[in-house]
Amino acid sequence: MTDAPPPGGIGLDAKLSGVLGGRTAGALTKAFGIETAGQLLQHYPRRYARRGELTALAELPLDEHVTIVAEVLEVRERTMRSRRGSILEASISDGTGILTLTFFNQAWRSRELKPGVRGVFAGKVGAYQGKRQLAHPDYELFAEQELDVGSEEARRWAETPVPIYPATSTLASWQIAAAIELVLDALGPLDDPVPAELRRERSLEGYRAALEGVHRPESEGQTRLARRTLRFHEAFALQTALLQRRAELRRAVAVSREPRPGGLLERFDAALPFELTDDQRSVGEEISTDLAATAPMNRLVQGEVGSGKTLVALRAMLAVADSGGQAALLAPTEVLAAQHVRSIARMLGPMLSAELLPTLVTGQLGAAERRKALLRTAAGQSRIVVGTHALLGDKVEFADLGLVVVDEQHRFGVEQREALRRKGRTPPHVLVLTATPIPRTVAMTVFGDLDVSTIRQLPAGRAGIESHVVPLALRPGWRPRIWSRLAEELEQGRQGFVVVPAIEGAQLEAGGLDPEEAAEAAEDARPLATVVDTLAEARAHPQLAGRRVEALHGRMSADEKDAAMQEFAGGAIDVLVATTVIEVGVDVPNASTMIVFDADRFGVSQLHQLRGRIGRGGVPGVCLLVTGAEPGSVALERVEAVAATLDGFELARVDLELRREGDVLGERQSGGRSSLKLLRVAHDGELIADARTAAAGILADDPTLASHPALAAALRRRLDEESASFLAKG
Ligand code: ADP
Ligand code: MG
Repeated sequence: MTDAPPPGGIGLDAKLSGVLGGRTAGALTKAFGIETAGQLLQHYPRRYARRGELTALAELPLDEHVTIVAEVLEVRERTMRSRRGSILEASISDGTGILTLTFFNQAWRSRELKPGVRGVFAGKVGAYQGKRQLAHPDYELFAEQELDVGSEEARRWAETPVPIYPATSTLASWQIAAAIELVLDALGPLDDPVPAELRRERSLEGYRAALEGVHRPESEGQTRLARRTLRFHEAFALQTALLQRRAELRRAVAVSREPRPGGLLERFDAALPFELTDDQRSVGEEISTDLAATAPMNRLVQGEVGSGKTLVALRAMLAVADSGGQAALLAPTEVLAAQHVRSIARMLGPMLSAELLPTLVTGQLGAAERRKALLRTAAGQSRIVVGTHALLGDKVEFADLGLVVVDEQHRFGVEQREALRRKGRTPPHVLVLTATPIPRTVAMTVFGDLDVSTIRQLPAGRAGIESHVVPLALRPGWRPRIWSRLAEELEQGRQGFVVVPAIEGAQLEAGGLDPEEAAEAAEDARPLATVVDTLAEARAHPQLAGRRVEALHGRMSADEKDAAMQEFAGGAIDVLVATTVIEVGVDVPNASTMIVFDADRFGVSQLHQLRGRIGRGGVPGVCLLVTGAEPGSVALERVEAVAATLDGFELARVDLELRREGDVLGERQSGGRSSLKLLRVAHDGELIADARTAAAGILADDPTLASHPALAAALRRRLDEESASFLAKG
C-alpha cells in the first residue's frame, strides 16, 4: 500500500516506505542501505545503453568493461565438478558473433533469460577455455515493443538512453528505474545546495533538472550536463564538509608541546647512529611547529615503506614526553603493535626506554599483564603506549594524552581516530602515518580535513630491489626456477617471503582482496595458490632441503603469528609462506627475497607494499611476481607496472588508471553509503580543486552556513549517513 504523497510533494528526507510501498522499499534498504528519497535519487545509473544498437561481439576487448545490446540464443545450466554449486550459461548474439554469459549459483536467471529476448548486457570481458565470456554481467531485458520499423517513434525508442543501475540478484536495474520514476514524480520543489552564482559561473543546471536529466534523459547531451552538475554537487558538499570539520578541529584548544633544551628529544637525536634525511628533517620541523601551537595538529605523513616515518613519529612522541605528556600509537594489527614496541624500545636504547616505559596494550594480553599496562598508562608512567584498537576501549585511561599517532591510516576510520582523541583531557595532537602514496586529489578528497606532509627520499644505503614478472601463462617452464632463485638467496645467508592469496582450498584471506576482486577471483577457474599447498611444495623441494619453512596467516592466533614473526626476525626461520598479514610495517633487514604467487590477485599498491618488506637492510632485494594472467590482459599489465618501478607515487597513479573506481579510496569511502557516487578521483582532480576553492569561499563569509540552509541540510544528510554506516559496521 502506498500513501498518497503530500500535496506539495515529498522532500529528500521522505522515507521510501511511504512512497514506494514496503516491498520495494525493503528491498532497496536490504540491497543498498537506501532508506530515503534523497538516497535513492543518488543511486545513479552506472551507464546508459541504447536499445537499437547491436554490438559487434567479435571485437570486444579482453578484460574491459563493456555494455552491449544483444539477443539471447540459448541457456544451459551445469553443476561444477570441483566445487559445490551450479553455473548458468547463456549465449547471446549480435547476429554474427556469440558471447557466453556465466552466472555462478544463480540458476533463477533462466526464468528471465529466455531465447529470443533482447536486452543490454554489461560486464567485464574474460576468456575461458578460449571462448569470450562475461562473468556475472548486469543486464536489462527490453520489454516487448510493437513499433513500425523506420517510424519516428521507433527511432526515438532506439536512441533514448536507457539508464543501467547497479543492481542485485533480487533487485533488477529496471525495478530500480521504476522506483526512481515514482520518487521523481512525487518530489516537491527542491532548494539547491549549490548557490546560484556558483552554478552560473560553471554553467551548471539546477539540482532538480540534473536529477531528471540523469535518471530519465531524453538525449545523451542531457545526461552529460546532468552528470557534470551532480559531480560538482558532490565535490562541493564533500569539500564544504571537510573544510568545516577542519575548522572545527582547529578551533579546539590543545596543549602546546615543546621539547626541553637538553631533554629527551635532544638526547635521542644525539645518540642516533645515522643522519636524518632532508625529508625527515623538514617533516619533523612541520610537526614541531604544529605541536608547539595551541590548535591541535591534524597531520598526515605519507612516505614509502622504509622511508623512516616511524622514526619521525617517535621524535614527535619524544617532544611531547618532554613536556610530561603521553603519546599513543595505534597500529592496525597485533603483530605490528608488538613489533612497534620492540623497535621503539630498540631505537630508544636502554636509558630512554627505562624513562619512557614503552608499553603494549592489545586484546591478547593476559589479565595480569593487562592490569599492569593499564596502570602504567593511567598513572602516566608509560609515556609511549602502543596498541591495537584495544586502546580505544573504555578501560584504557591516560594521565595526560598529548599525541595520538595512527599508523596505516587506511585501516582506521575517522570515528576511531575520534574515539582516541576523546581520551585526552584536552584534545590531543594527531599524527597519521601512511605508506600508501596518495595522489593529491585523493588526499584532498579522503583526507581533506588533514594537513599533508610527504617523505619522498629513502634513507641512504638502501641496496635496492630488482623485480621480475614470471608469466606462467606464457612460460610454464619457468616454475621450477622460482624455487632455485630462492634457494640461491638462502645460500648467501638470507631469508625470504613467499606470498599467496589464500590459506587453503579456495578460501581467500580476509582483508586480502576487496569484495569485488574476491568475487572475480571466485569466478576464475584457475585455483588459487594457498599457504597449505605452497608450504608443502617448498618443504618438498630438494634445493630447500634442511631449510626451515613456516606459515604465517590470518587464521593463526595472535601469539602464533607473533612467534613466527619473531623467529623469522631472529633468523631461525628461513622462509615464511604467508598471506597479506605481512603486508604492513614488518621489518626484517635480512629478508632479501619475495615471491608472490598469483600476483595478479593483488592490487597494485598492495603488491608495492608487500615488496617493501624486502631490501630494507644492506642486502639487495629480489622480487618475483608470479602470475598465470593471460598475455594482453589488464591483470598482467598491473603486475608489469609494479615490476617496472619502485616509485610508489607513479604506481598510485597507474593504480588509479587501471583499477576500477571505488577501490582506490579503500573501505572508508567505498564501503559506506556516504561513498563517492559520481566523483572519480582519477579524473576529477580539477573539479575537486575547484569545488574546494568554492567551498572555502562560502565558508569564509558564512562559517556556520546560516544563510545557506539547503547546503547545511545536504551536509547534515551526509553526516547522518556516515554515522549510520559507522553504526552498521559496529
Ligand atoms: P617506515 O616506518 O617509514 O617504514 P621506519 O621508520 O620503520 O620506516 O624506518 C625503516 C628503517 O630505516 C628502520 O630500521 C630505521 O631505523 C631506519 N632509518 C630511519 N631513518 C633513517 C635514516 N635517516 N638513515 C638511516 N636509516 C634510517
Ligand atoms: Mg613503519
